[in-house]
Amino acid sequence: MKKAVLRLVTACMALLVVASVAPVLAFAQSDGVAEIPFTDEEQALILRTQNGEPITIGIIPHTFPLSECPPEYSDYTGINVEMLALITQKTGLRFTYCRVPIEKNSPYESLKANDFTLVAGTIKLDAFLQNPELILSDRLCDGSAVCIAKRDTAPNTLKSGKIAVMNGYQAGIVFAEKLFPNLKIVLYPNNEDVLRAVRSGHTDLAMISRYVGIYQLQNPLNEYLVSLEPYQMVADSCVMGLNTPETQTAISIINKALSQIGEDEYSHVQMNFSITHPYRLVATQFLFKYRYILLAGVVICLLVSYLIAKLLYSQKERFLLSRDELTGAFSEVGFELAVSKAILKPGLPLFITDFDIQHFSRYNELCGKQKGDELLKNIVTIVRSFLCEQDIICRSYADNFKALTRKDSLESLIADIQKATALFGQSVDSDLVLHFGIYPVTDHNIPIVKMLDFAAVAKKTVKNNSQDFIGVYDEKLHKRLINDARMLSSFDSAIENKEFIAYYQPKFDVTTKEIIGAEALVRWRNSDGSMIPPMEFIELFEKNGQIRRLDFYMLKRVCEFQQKLMLLRLPLVAISVNFSRVHLHSSDFTEKVNQIVERFGVPKHLIEIECTETTMTNDVDLTKSILGSLQAQGFSISMDDFGKAYSSLNTLCAIPLDIVKLDSGFLLAKPGDERERARKIIRGVVSLVHDLSLHVIAEGVETEEQYDFLKSVGCDSIQGYYFSRPLDEASFFKMLTER
Ligand code: C2E
Ligand code: CA
Ligand code: CA
Repeated sequence: MKKAVLRLVTACMALLVVASVAPVLAFAQSDGVAEIPFTDEEQALILRTQNGEPITIGIIPHTFPLSECPPEYSDYTGINVEMLALITQKTGLRFTYCRVPIEKNSPYESLKANDFTLVAGTIKLDAFLQNPELILSDRLCDGSAVCIAKRDTAPNTLKSGKIAVMNGYQAGIVFAEKLFPNLKIVLYPNNEDVLRAVRSGHTDLAMISRYVGIYQLQNPLNEYLVSLEPYQMVADSCVMGLNTPETQTAISIINKALSQIGEDEYSHVQMNFSITHPYRLVATQFLFKYRYILLAGVVICLLVSYLIAKLLYSQKERFLLSRDELTGAFSEVGFELAVSKAILKPGLPLFITDFDIQHFSRYNELCGKQKGDELLKNIVTIVRSFLCEQDIICRSYADNFKALTRKDSLESLIADIQKATALFGQSVDSDLVLHFGIYPVTDHNIPIVKMLDFAAVAKKTVKNNSQDFIGVYDEKLHKRLINDARMLSSFDSAIENKEFIAYYQPKFDVTTKEIIGAEALVRWRNSDGSMIPPMEFIELFEKNGQIRRLDFYMLKRVCEFQQKLMLLRLPLVAISVNFSRVHLHSSDFTEKVNQIVERFGVPKHLIEIECTETTMTNDVDLTKSILGSLQAQGFSISMDDFGKAYSSLNTLCAIPLDIVKLDSGFLLAKPGDERERARKIIRGVVSLVHDLSLHVIAEGVETEEQYDFLKSVGCDSIQGYYFSRPLDEASFFKMLTER
């Protein structure tokens, strides 16, 4: 800071000096020659120099700003040269310049060799003054020398060491010897090398001309060097020649001129080459000087380019991720981003819709991928035609779509969906069904992913339903989800606390009306005594696999009950236990069933394994081997809900079975044609099952009429409210003992 202020002050001073000197120069230029009285010899010499015989002056190279020579500069320049130019201005005496050969030890030798007539910039040394062969001018300029060292050098402590001096700088050698007699003088070809020697530690000190020092210390490479002021040698620089009549005349003219050069003129020249002349940085010095700024610049540039590249890349990536290539709709990532923005804007109520095509994979397989792709594109086009500008649609994967719409009411959205579905139906030559789940955005603060989940859950409520294909996420559904979560989390404790209890629904022989068996049905009894029916939790536990534990738990309760009857020597009937389809994928199912039943010592024919027909048709080979092995162990195998789903008569012959349980649906047929057909089917199935030597039982029998019909077609046994509802263990036990 201090330095900067100092520089500013000196620069201003220089400007003031320049301004004040300018009129003086003009005056000197016009009147200078006439004012100085010259002798005849002097006038003759001046004339001669003007007529093509200028005086040759030797200039000492590498001493800028004192003097400098080509090739770096286009012409001779420096304080000495400028002073000589002033002399020419004032006297008319003309000069020509040449370089003092550095190889020669001193300018004196060059003078003797007639390389030039005069030499400029010679320091007035005693040796020169005392030599009668030489003649020296008055003070041309300040010829003081300075001692340069590294900042922390203390020259007075130097007992031995080296001092660098430029070769040919006779005065420097003399001064160095005088000031530091103990130090060894090392010569270098130029002043830059002299300072380099100090920088690199080859020498401890350097002796250079004061002007050269001022100039060279501006070189950033020399930033750790200083001029040691106490070791300054005050000296004058002058013009020197061999003592001949001609040089005497020349020196006399020069001296006359020098006496005319005012202090202001001299200062102007001197400042022009020292303070106001900035150091000429070569590329490496420039790099060195601004190394920290450059380094910071490079780092900033790299950082900025990295950030720009990253931004561009992420924008590109985001764009790619945000679009679905096939349909042009948003991708899931893009959709979530767009929803999060749209949600913040005010407007009509928002709805998130999740939709897909039922059995799309089957369509893809049958009609080919190309047709499938066309179908997907078609859906987007149709749905888009119902969307407003700010609405968005997304294809998250395969045939799964999502949309965000603004509508004045849920009803108008449903109306639009119905219209879109009708259009879609007309556009495809197949009875494809679309399923929709809608989440009316009531709470803007819940996370977007959760909102999407809600729409997906709503869609699941209408899964496989072709009539009612729009599900809405409402309060009821919300409560159910909460309830599901609660049930899932309390399953373990419910098992431990024996909250699951077995109810028994008796089975009766059609003709004798005797109890021939029972079905164990699970109930979840809460701590408050309320009962949760299995329909509310079976599917849930099937999804997370907990049903396996529950079914084995039920098997144990049944075995316990049978064991109790056995101990009391009461008559025993086979009790069926329901096993979920999930078991068929566990390798240890057969083993586990066996283990449990054997542990309780219950004869295997008293346990019936009940699996639904759909369970059995899933993987016929696997089912065949598992149920076959259980049957071989002595268990009875019962096919539950026969006729409820897509029945394949094939299963009847493929799967090892003992009992076929007719689905209650047949009995629910409406009176009239439908019932007639249902009855024909029952009749046919009963006869078919009998032909296969299997036992047939009808469930869900509620009325006498149904009972009579089933009896008339030869059904073997009956289960239903008509005879008995499912009973708790005590009631069933009572029923068994009272028979
Ligand atoms: P499911 O195996 O078809 O059981 C018959 C269901 O019909 C029982 O419902 C029973 O109470 C009901 N039912 C019996 N007679 C009549 C009738 O005359 N009219 C009407 N409307 N219904 C009748 P529940 O006990 O609610 O069980 C429902 C379903 O839950 C069962 O259907 C079965 O799939 C499943 N389930 C019950 N307990 C278990 C179990 O321990 N394990 C497994 N995996 N599933 C079970
Ligand atoms: Ca059953
Ligand atoms: Ca059933």
